[in-house]
Amino acid sequence: MTGPSAVGLALSHVPKLHAYTPGLQPTGAGWVKLNTNECPYPPSPRVAEAILRELGADGAALRLYPNPASSALREAVARMHGLGEAHVCIGNGSDDILNLLVRCFCGPSAPAGFTLPSYSLYPVLVGIQDGASTTIPLDRAMRLPVERIAASGARIFFLTSPNAPTGVGFPNSEIGAVLDAFGGLLVVDEAYAPFARENAVCLLAGRRNLVVVRTLSKAYALAGLRVGYALADPEVIGLIDRVRDSYNVGRLSQAAALAALSDADHHAGLVARIRSTRDSFAANCRTARGWFTFPSEANFVCTEPRDAKGRTGPSVARAAYDFLFSRKVLVRHFPSDALTASFLRISVGSDDEMLVLDQTLDAWQKAPPNA
Ligand code: PMP
Repeated sequence: MTGPSAVGLALSHVPKLHAYTPGLQPTGAGWVKLNTNECPYPPSPRVAEAILRELGADGAALRLYPNPASSALREAVARMHGLGEAHVCIGNGSDDILNLLVRCFCGPSAPAGFTLPSYSLYPVLVGIQDGASTTIPLDRAMRLPVERIAASGARIFFLTSPNAPTGVGFPNSEIGAVLDAFGGLLVVDEAYAPFARENAVCLLAGRRNLVVVRTLSKAYALAGLRVGYALADPEVIGLIDRVRDSYNVGRLSQAAALAALSDADHHAGLVARIRSTRDSFAANCRTARGWFTFPSEANFVCTEPRDAKGRTGPSVARAAYDFLFSRKVLVRHFPSDALTASFLRISVGSDDEMLVLDQTLDAWQKAPPNA
């Protein structure tokens, strides 16, 4: 081998980074996949039609770069939320938007804040930026720590609402209180808001320090497409547009997302079905199994399994995870966070998937636990 080592040439923080750990994406057949909060139902039929239309008979349109600003999509998103186009930026998934926000507002002397637990991508993005961070732990009551966020000194604070991985939604009254008291930019990551009782979009009116981030991955069943967006004051949008890849959303994605947004009835149907399955599964965990379960306003349920001896804890949750895995039921366990280490996060699946899950959880509860 000749030449200098890339590790030696890289910026000194880069070799120390840990990449984001996504949920497993198994390739074999037969899995009940309830680990990454995807939608169990297909997107609007208009999506496939729009992609085929965009492709044309020979795919010739793909020779050309996409619209750099995703202009038609910006307009559609703006209209849907009753805002002007200048208030919208489209991202390659909402992860792209979160990344752009960190690029603009976080650095070694500009800390980013977030609660623990929350979406585990935030610290990864902050690490890439070699930025400072400040964290605020939550407890089982899951009350929003308004004063602590206001006093956090963060330049930008990421609030996942509904929270991940607990699913608990924070009320607008408390988010409004944070906005009134906080001197930084508050990003409300609303990946799961379509499944919630309320959302923070109405708080944007007249405020400069709020960004609402949304995705089409969950409630529009388009995780494979990678489309998300930010809603914010035009000043914020102008900044993130400056650091964005010029062609950050592909042609097929723009066309498909537009089609998905045009089918409000399909979207409403998906959301209603998922909410109803979620509520009956959460009630089953609480009432039939006697498991502590966070009240979920998302498309997943975070529950604390109890084994045949009535025990809970991180090793019990791990045992339940392993048992489910051995039966090809994939859920998520977050052992590194103190609040959720004894929980499993289970995405809401189809009725058939939830039946398999229920039977497998029964089998685990009846299995003799390890000593
Ligand atoms: N925010 C939260 C809280 C999430 O859980 C996710 C999905 N993992 C995202 C953002 C990213 O969604 P996407 O990039 O698919 O739009």
